[in-house]
Amino acid sequence: MRDYLKFYIDGKWVDPVEHKTSNVINPATEEVSGHISMASVADVEKAVVAARKAFASWSQTTREQRLEIVLAIQAEYAKRQIEIGEAITEEMGAPNALGCGFHIGLGGGHIAAAIDSLKAFKFEELRGSTMINRVPIGVCALITPWNWPMNQVAVKVLPALATGCTMVLKPPQLAPYSAQIFAEVLHAAGVPAGVFNMLQGSGAVVGAALSAHPEVDLVSITGSEAVGVEIAKAAAPTVKRVCQELGGKSAFIVLDDADLAKNVAGATGGMMINSGQTCSAGSRLLVPKARMAEAIEAAKKAAADVTVGDPKGQFAMGPVVSKNQYNEVQRYIEIGVQEGAELIAGGPGRPEGITKGFYCKPTVFAKVSNKMKIAREEVFGPVLVIIGYDDIDHAIEIANDSDFGLAGYVNGVDKAQCNAVAKRMRTGWVSINGGFDFQAPFGGMKKSGNGREWGELGFHEYVEIQALLGYA
Ligand code: NAP
Ligand code: MG
Repeated sequence: MRDYLKFYIDGKWVDPVEHKTSNVINPATEEVSGHISMASVADVEKAVVAARKAFASWSQTTREQRLEIVLAIQAEYAKRQIEIGEAITEEMGAPNALGCGFHIGLGGGHIAAAIDSLKAFKFEELRGSTMINRVPIGVCALITPWNWPMNQVAVKVLPALATGCTMVLKPPQLAPYSAQIFAEVLHAAGVPAGVFNMLQGSGAVVGAALSAHPEVDLVSITGSEAVGVEIAKAAAPTVKRVCQELGGKSAFIVLDDADLAKNVAGATGGMMINSGQTCSAGSRLLVPKARMAEAIEAAKKAAADVTVGDPKGQFAMGPVVSKNQYNEVQRYIEIGVQEGAELIAGGPGRPEGITKGFYCKPTVFAKVSNKMKIAREEVFGPVLVIIGYDDIDHAIEIANDSDFGLAGYVNGVDKAQCNAVAKRMRTGWVSINGGFDFQAPFGGMKKSGNGREWGELGFHEYVEIQALLGYA
């Protein structure tokens, strides 16, 4: 049982102002795995005051001073990363190999990227006689989701720290453990008191109070579209910056010259990673219409190969995060059936033989129309839809016919053609033949939000531009 009942404020672990706790449920067992304290508005006040006070000195530190701290964080993170991976398995059900693999690898990758970026970042840039000065924006509220919990915490905290900002982190109620250990990492690394603060609790109380707080200069939210909108509204009267990293319904285009079976298998397996709870998942697989039958065969086989079970065991896929999420996935599977899509793998209910835990079946619908709900709305579960296209223009038209614009995938042999297709996608991030890069800015267009995180370009969210005219 994990009891994480204190908050991290002004460099110390402190008791909440009011005593209120909440259960954390292990999605694999449906049992209580621990408790967190639920912060009140009074705790928010304490944390923001601490961050504001610390900003005066932290914002004046040198690049070298901050680099020393970030390097210490890297060393402390390395010591605790397996523990963090195990906490992720317990809080949100990622299979152990994934929790202690890609999940913690993403956290470590963002730390390493922040080190490289901090070494290179142009805080000052002379243009003619004007000095362009990039100064820390101030006190940041960082609000994160449960699906890749360490990734999302690291990708916000590191650039905020590196640019000289101070912050209050509000991790998700559903996955609070990894963030708690991460706070211990920062403490051990010697982050000065008040620079980093963390409150556990609900978005409705803590997130809303942070968003509206006059002493908070920026809110960075990764989460759903609905919450992103609420935060922007709450933040508007205080004219703070709002960085939104929201949902997606991203297209995975397999071009006609590609090895179709291999790519469909890869896209299907990829969709099921993390039980499909990935904002940038390629959840709409676009294949040449004339080769739909071939695609169906490959997807069926790949979905059947995805083993589902106890995340502490050797399975490819664990449960989804919660009962609500399970019900949502089931609802979309029913909608897909009602809409007349062809269910070729998985379907309603738990996988055979499993009677407890929020496990879903790796599910694939084929011959889907892009007008269907299962092609337009984010399921956020292990559900892939396959859509046929006539030619490249049609593929791009389908890909771009979405309210979202987060990610995209283009796989093919002709490199020039892949690049040309990628450029025509109205999404913020496109991976060509599996390209991956910690320095590539990550974020969306349209309803996927306005933020850009990851690497050096991610630093720009946390700085204000100051122009000093007549400087030179
Ligand atoms: P969510 O329900 O929107 O919650 C995200 C965070 O916002 C949580 O910490 C939540 O607190 C908090 N929150 C809720 N209501 C709030 C309010 N009124 N004011 C301020 N904060 C509030 O999202 P989720 O269910 O955790 O995550 C799934 C969503 O995140 C999906 O849509 C996914 O696509 C998106 N996502 C996007 C990216 C990206 O980079 N673009 C990455 C990952 C996930 P609680 O703890 O109370 O829920
Ligand atoms: Mg939610």
